[in-house]
Amino acid sequence: MLRCMYCHRPMNIPKRVLEELWPRIEAAGQPHVDLTCPRCGRVNKVSIETLRKRLGVPRARNQGDA
Ligand SMILES: [Zn+2]
Repeated sequence: MLRCMYCHRPMNIPKRVLEELWPRIEAAGQPHVDLTCPRCGRVNKVSIETLRKRLGVPRARNQGDA
């Protein structure tokens, strides 16, 4: 469960939405992604690894162990 770090409410972002975002997230090559909390409207930086685990996406080969 993703949880807003500001209001501490669960961010119920549908997996479908995350799956749609994923290609862009991965292409951006950043360690975090900005997700806006639907309750308080503040932007949370969510770790790519957190999303990856949530989506069950295998680690990309070109990211290595770095
Ligand atoms: Zn919030």
